[in-house]
Amino acid sequence: MNTTPPTIGGVTIDEICNLSGTPVYVYDADVIARNVRRLHAAFASIPARFMYAVKALSNTAILQLMKQLGTGLDTVSIQEVHRGLRAGFEPREILFTPNMIAFDEIREAVQLGIHINIDTISVLERFGHEFGNTVPVCIRINPHIMAGGNERISTGHIDSKFGISIHQMRHVLRVVASQGMHINGLHMHTGSDILDADVFLQGAEMLFEIAENFPDLEFVDFGSGFKVAYKPDDIATDIEDLAAKLSERVIMFNSGRERPVEVWFEPGKFLVSESGTLLARVNVLKQTTATVFAGVDTGLNHLIRPMLYNAYHHISNVSNPTGTPRVYTVVGYICETDTFGWDRKIAEIREGDILAFANAGAYGMTMASNYNSRLRPAEVLVYNGKASLIRRRETLDDVLSTEIEIDLAP
Ligand SMILES: *Cc1c(COP(=O)(O)O)cnc(C)c1O
Repeated sequence: MNTTPPTIGGVTIDEICNLSGTPVYVYDADVIARNVRRLHAAFASIPARFMYAVKALSNTAILQLMKQLGTGLDTVSIQEVHRGLRAGFEPREILFTPNMIAFDEIREAVQLGIHINIDTISVLERFGHEFGNTVPVCIRINPHIMAGGNERISTGHIDSKFGISIHQMRHVLRVVASQGMHINGLHMHTGSDILDADVFLQGAEMLFEIAENFPDLEFVDFGSGFKVAYKPDDIATDIEDLAAKLSERVIMFNSGRERPVEVWFEPGKFLVSESGTLLARVNVLKQTTATVFAGVDTGLNHLIRPMLYNAYHHISNVSNPTGTPRVYTVVGYICETDTFGWDRKIAEIREGDILAFANAGAYGMTMASNYNSRLRPAEVLVYNGKASLIRRRETLDDVLSTEIEIDLAP
């Protein structure tokens, strides 16, 4: 029987919990580094650049790790832009891909020297009016490719609010010509669940065709959509297969151009999902007529993906890894239906045990809230075999700090 205690990045779970308490998000820097290197290796034959999507996991220590690993950043709000700058990125290493925002944010990003990506014709017009050809700009195209099974995370379909429809290219070209704009990039991001290379290749064909209109193009950005396996039998994007096929096509495209384009990607989930584990303690075991509930000291306020996207996260009992497997329904402590997993086979759970929720690096902490006035989790990064707190646990004072009491005297 294997009796070595469970570890993350070589550090025992006990040591991590002693450092931070529970609940805590733990990230393994080695896993992130491995994923970045895998992308660099797969696309080594073309000028590729990886702009990490900050919204997946935005802690400053993670951004600094990305900087060290040589990624740029893809940002979707001016606050994410500032996060990136504060973490040490140069403005030219940051792409701003906003949707439905006030023009003030775009103007601020321009003043900061950030790459701008525009996804609406009226905004493009306004941008041209204000900056003419003095500020290069990238255009986000919606190629109307339906990618992935989940409607909520698919952005390329016909009803999507994202991007400028590929059917509006004539209009775009007229705006660009009449304002004398400098278009330096073309972009698409069709969603976060692309299974096979064909969707990318199809999108690439469309972008390359449009690219013929823009001689000053510096990059073509294929967004993300790299699928990660959450369940053991899930299919993940075959990065090497995609890279081989796409690189061949890019080399062909560039050979016919005076100015070769760089190829950008914006992976979020792919880089950080597997690196993250949410650790929580079992507060209560509750036998009902239907099942045995294991109730933990976390909930949908900390990891909303199971409830929001019906996402699967593998759950294991790291306090009793060799215990006899039994069937449990793992639920959170929020007053709301708050289920992490139904009918899961987990090594026998005792009150006080620590459960690990796998694949929680992406869209975990960044979507956490203070619902039920609960405090958000701490975050720990394991780097070079050492665990460090990268966000302390919140206090009630933190949560109340922006509230203002008024005089309710009648
Ligand atoms: C969310 C987002 C990404 C990252 O998607 P993942 O599925 O996490 O890889 C990339 N680009 C844009 C524009 C996004 O909105």
